[in-house]
Amino acid sequence: MIHHRTPEFDQILARVLLQLKSIFQTENPCYVLSTTGSGGMECLLVNTMAPKEAVLVINSGKFGERWGQMVECFGGELHTLKIPWGEAASADQVYNVLKKNPQIKLVLTQACETSTGTLHPIQEIGKMLKEQFPDILFLVDGITALGALPLSMDQWNIDGLVGGSQKAFMLPTGLSLLSFSKKAWGKISQNPMPRFYFDIRHEQKANLKGETFFSSNVSLIRALDIILNEILKKGLETHFSEIKTRAQFVRKYCQKIGFTLYSQFPSDSVTALWMPQKSGSHKFREELEKRFKITIMGGQDEAKDKIIRIGHMGYILPQQQLELMESLYQLLLDHQQIAKLNNWGEIKSEMKRDLNL
Ligand SMILES: *Cc1c(COP(=O)(O)O)cnc(C)c1O
Repeated sequence: MIHHRTPEFDQILARVLLQLKSIFQTENPCYVLSTTGSGGMECLLVNTMAPKEAVLVINSGKFGERWGQMVECFGGELHTLKIPWGEAASADQVYNVLKKNPQIKLVLTQACETSTGTLHPIQEIGKMLKEQFPDILFLVDGITALGALPLSMDQWNIDGLVGGSQKAFMLPTGLSLLSFSKKAWGKISQNPMPRFYFDIRHEQKANLKGETFFSSNVSLIRALDIILNEILKKGLETHFSEIKTRAQFVRKYCQKIGFTLYSQFPSDSVTALWMPQKSGSHKFREELEKRFKITIMGGQDEAKDKIIRIGHMGYILPQQQLELMESLYQLLLDHQQIAKLNNWGEIKSEMKRDLNL
């Protein structure tokens, strides 16, 4: 362990804060906070929302619901654009709500709603907001998108963006990464909302001196330094296309063995799939972990026990992709979710070709 007030750490922090700008695709400063993704969401909100302000939340699943809870917790006037699970919002839908409610000052959404594996059209919504409602701030929870998919903060007119270390950054939980637009900064400095740990003004001043305001999360920031180096050396395009290729592989072969896609706008960072019998995913997942040592996720609330979710972010090798599909197939048979496939041999050869194995 090195101390956080040392020249050695100063260099690492400076490099991380600089390299993050390439990931966020922004000219504005980026921040690294010792907190989970939800802490980063809270930081975006408490700095840019004034008490009692009207806020529109796009709620298409568990994490959209969380935005809504936060707005209410901090005394905002909550307006919800409720989207059925598995569907994405459209810029038109957002436009219609804003037209009817001219008091709304902020729009909050996920880029990828992780609970349903759905990608929202962030670029289109950002463009519409810039053209039609230039005073509204647009806050995006990019926790399963930033670092995994194209998400260009400045070009897409995003005013607050957050990512998390344990999702696309292949690290343990504990860091939240965020940035604010110039427009957001105009409001942050005069915002009367009470805030202490997440007051980004302290962090901004400390970062200008080459430090973090509170003690730095030295070990995770060192690890992030290595990950950012790797991603940027490889190139963002290549990195994104590797994740996309994994998603395409899983979507293609899972459908061949009996699963169906849950989302109508599937994200490349995580794939949600209906079980062939639309139930039984809880036991299925448990056994996948016990017998094959593979961890995937299930569904929550209305999707509970009905779906599985497979992540494509992180360090995943082609051989593991193959093992995943073989294990899924075997378990589907054992759980009598599907009948034996006559062409399983052919499917396997095709998978190996796709994976260059
Ligand atoms: C995981 C996740 C979060 C919550 O992150 P924590 O680190 O658990 O606080 C928030 N939003 C999205 C979209 C997520 O996928």
